[in-house]
Amino acid sequence: MEALTNGPTLVIDGCAVATVDAAGTEYRSGHAVVHGTRIGAVGPGPAPVRDVPRIDGRGCLLTPGLVNTHHHLYQWITRGLAADNTLFEWLTTLYPIWVGIDEEALRVAATGALSALARTGCTTTSDHHYVFPRAGGDLLGAEISAAAEVGLRFHPCRGSMDLGASSGGLPPDDVVEPLDAILAASVDAITRWHDPSFDSMLRIALAPCSPFSVTGDLMRQSAVLAREYGVGLHTHLAETVDELDFCAATFGCTPAEYMEQLGWLGPDVWFAHAVHLDDAAITSIARSRTGVAHCPTSNGRLGAGIARTAALLVAGAPVGLGVDGAASNESSSMIEEPRNALLYARAVGGPRSMSVRTALELATIGGARVLGREAEIGSIAPGKLADLALWRLDGPAHAGIDDPVAALILGSPPPLAAVIVNGREVVRDNEVRTVDERAVGLRVARAQRDLVAKAR
Ligand code: ZN
Repeated sequence: MEALTNGPTLVIDGCAVATVDAAGTEYRSGHAVVHGTRIGAVGPGPAPVRDVPRIDGRGCLLTPGLVNTHHHLYQWITRGLAADNTLFEWLTTLYPIWVGIDEEALRVAATGALSALARTGCTTTSDHHYVFPRAGGDLLGAEISAAAEVGLRFHPCRGSMDLGASSGGLPPDDVVEPLDAILAASVDAITRWHDPSFDSMLRIALAPCSPFSVTGDLMRQSAVLAREYGVGLHTHLAETVDELDFCAATFGCTPAEYMEQLGWLGPDVWFAHAVHLDDAAITSIARSRTGVAHCPTSNGRLGAGIARTAALLVAGAPVGLGVDGAASNESSSMIEEPRNALLYARAVGGPRSMSVRTALELATIGGARVLGREAEIGSIAPGKLADLALWRLDGPAHAGIDDPVAALILGSPPPLAAVIVNGREVVRDNEVRTVDERAVGLRVARAQRDLVAKAR
C-alpha cells in the first residue's frame, strides 16, 4: 500500500459512521478525510483539518460504497418482459430480443443501469455480459466506456455461451459463439483492459454463462486461461430446480459437483445465485473459499428459491450481494439487496438468521471479498480506496429511527447526500453529476423501443 504523500482533498464530517471494519467500528458523530483516491483518516468528532472542500454530513450516515457482485447491464433496455414466468420461460422469451443487442444499444443500457446503481449507493459493480451477436461490434468496449463516463469502479466479465439448442442447450443457436472465438476474445479482453493494480478502476473476469448454455470444454479452458492471466472466474450456478434437473439428467450430478469436476472451485471463482446447494456443496464452496453472489431480489422475482446465506456464512464462504440483471430485477437498486437478503433469511430461517449489520457487511466488505478486493475496498479505513456513500437519514422517512444502520437496512431506501468513487463525487444531493440523467432516460426509452421492435 502506498503512503499518503498528498494532503487532504475532501472532508466529510458531522455524520454517523459505520466503517464496516473487522472490529465493526462505528461513530455516532464522526468524520472521514479523503486524500486523492484514498481514505486518509476516519474517526469520531469533527475532522482535524481546515481549508479543504467539505461535505456537511449532519443528519447522514457514512458507509463504505456498496459492491455489486452480479449484474447484466444490457438488460436495462429489456425490463418488464415475461414478468410472471419461470427462469427458463423468461430466458426463452428474451433470447430472441437479446440477439439484436449491439454496441450502441449496450452503451445506452449500461449508462442507464450504472447511473441507477450510483443512485443507490453502489461504487463498484461487476457485469456479466454473455450475449455477443455476430454483428454486435465492440460490446465490452461499449460498457467499459459507459462505466468510465458514469465513474463507477468496474469488473466486467467476458461472458460466453457455446451450447446452442441444436446441441442440447437452452439458448437459440444464433446467440452462441464457437469455443475458439470465445477464448480469443477472452485473451483480447484481458490484454486490452485488465488492470491488476491496487487502485484499479477496471478488472476483467472470464464468465461462461451457466451449465445449461455452455460446454464443459469451455468451462475447463476458460479456467486454464483465467489462471494463466491471473483474472477471476464467474458463472451462474444452482439458480433453479430446473437447473438441478438439467444437471442430473445431463451430467449425473449436482451443479456444484459438476463445477468441482471442471476445476471451478477456488478463491478466484464466484458463483451467482447458488440457491440450491446441499450440505456437501456448502462445505466444498466454503473450504475452497469460492465466492457467492447472493441475488435475493432476482431470486424472488423469478421464484427461484433463496440461497442458504446463514449456512454459507457459518461455513466461512465469502458472500456478497448482487442485483442480477435488470430484466429480473427492474429496480436494480443495490440498497434494496441487503434489506431483501435479511428479510428472506429471516422469513426462512427465523429472527436470528441475519442481523442488520451482517446485511450491511454482505453489501460492502462481503462483496469486496467475493471480487478479491477486500484489501482495497469494502470498509472505511486509512489507506483504502475512497469509495463512500453518504445516506441522508434526517428526512420524514428516517428521522427518529434510533439506530442509523437499522434505518439504512430496514427503512425505505434513503436519498444520498453524496457518493464518492475513487475520491471523485459521482452523486451529490441525490443526483448523478457525471451524466445528464434526463438525457440518459430518453436514450434508454428509445433504445428499448428499437430493440423490442427489431425482434417483432
Ligand atoms: Zn445473472
